[in-house]
Amino acid sequence: MDLANQNVLVVGLGISGMAAARLAKRFGAEVVVSDAKEADKLGDEPKTLRSEGIRVVCGPQELSLLDGVDHIIVSPAVPVRIPLLQEAYRRGMDVESEVEFAYHIAKSPILAITGTNGKTTTTTLVGKLMETAFPVVGVGGNIGVPLSEECLRVGGGGCVVAEISSYQMEATDDFVPHVAAVLNVTPDHVVRHGTLEVYQQMKEKLFAQQTEKDFLVLNYDDQKTRDMAKRAPGTVCFFSRSELLGEGAFVKNGTLTMRWDGKEIPVLPVDDLQIRGGHNVENALAAMAMAYLAGAEPNKIAAVLRAFTGVEHRIEAVLSCDGVSYWNDSKATNTDSAIKALESFTEPIVLLAGGDDKMTDLTEFMRLVKDKCRALVLGGNAAARFKEAAVAADFPRDKIFEAGYSMEKGVELARAAAQPGDAVLLSPACASFDMYSGFEERGRNFKDIVRRMAGNK
Ligand code: ADP
Repeated sequence: MDLANQNVLVVGLGISGMAAARLAKRFGAEVVVSDAKEADKLGDEPKTLRSEGIRVVCGPQELSLLDGVDHIIVSPAVPVRIPLLQEAYRRGMDVESEVEFAYHIAKSPILAITGTNGKTTTTTLVGKLMETAFPVVGVGGNIGVPLSEECLRVGGGGCVVAEISSYQMEATDDFVPHVAAVLNVTPDHVVRHGTLEVYQQMKEKLFAQQTEKDFLVLNYDDQKTRDMAKRAPGTVCFFSRSELLGEGAFVKNGTLTMRWDGKEIPVLPVDDLQIRGGHNVENALAAMAMAYLAGAEPNKIAAVLRAFTGVEHRIEAVLSCDGVSYWNDSKATNTDSAIKALESFTEPIVLLAGGDDKMTDLTEFMRLVKDKCRALVLGGNAAARFKEAAVAADFPRDKIFEAGYSMEKGVELARAAAQPGDAVLLSPACASFDMYSGFEERGRNFKDIVRRMAGNK
């Protein structure tokens, strides 16, 4: 792509927008960045970019911003329905997402992962698996590192692993990952896309331009992703946690198995995985299939799968103390995720839950809490409603403890309630904004307190 002397407008000043603006400038373009937020809401970024010779326009997005522009790059945070972009489409202008921009820069094949849940875990794992097959591997996209930056850094002769959210696909049309995966599709993010169908269409854009020499890895156990095979121009490889497949990745006799091109390869016993839970078996199967199709060797795949301990804040092991294990699952900001975590343990659980209440129905969650938990420690805004729902599910009142707004107190109460052989699990089923800047800060605070407590014994 030749951007030299072109007028480029970048819409949205997130980290991907920043990266795109800088790269376009580096390729010789005249760059303007527009963000609907006022300058005082954007921190230091506008100043930094201006010092690099990039014009930044904050606040109302006048349609005249489009005048004289040759090329528009859209940051994933910006919905295409905003008037500025609608006008750009009306004028027949050249509009692409940051993902597509990255794709045009890329000189190495891209492996791309989407789905409602499991993206970060699978992307991280695929990144590690590909390191066994390529000298240089990039990991970017929705995972917090701009994809365009990674594509440039890797150059040719390597491979780039991309986590793709449905948002990133809105302004994307000709992105062709060599290996794509759709892990699952459940109702989520419907607010931005309007309906589940539109949300699903966004995900399908990921593989719509593939050809037979490209691969599409799909979850056989999810009806919505299974049906995508009918619309896939690429070569489909299914994965399944529950069925033996004629071809694909599945569990046979307790072993993750790859059957492809007439060969059946037992890769690794499920019990050798360190990441917990059935949902993580699915993530491991998808990652294994992608890596195998992209050229990684089965014995190397097995070694990486065995060593992988997961991603921070997702059922992350912290330490064991007095025979009790401590787990940080701060990423569980809704009941669906917390349910996945509870289902991943066979030992009795002391659960720390609560935070900023999302006001969703708690019936199923509390039924499982009653089955699996020895004690429940509640905190944050949600504590009273959670307590009521637990009592309604017949969870014993004398096993419910209240920590108020103190993680310190929560950990203390959990420790006192736990017995040797138990797991103390932070899986809040709530957002964290009543006490923290985000789930990361909450998880780190929990780990710090647990480590201090274990150190002070
Ligand atoms: P994402 O990046 O899509 O949000 P993560 O890998 O960060 O996914 O996992 C977030 C949460 O989603 C996990 O804590 C777990 O509760 C749930 N999850 C992970 N993998 C799956 C899966 N394959 N199917 C269903 N739920 C999953």
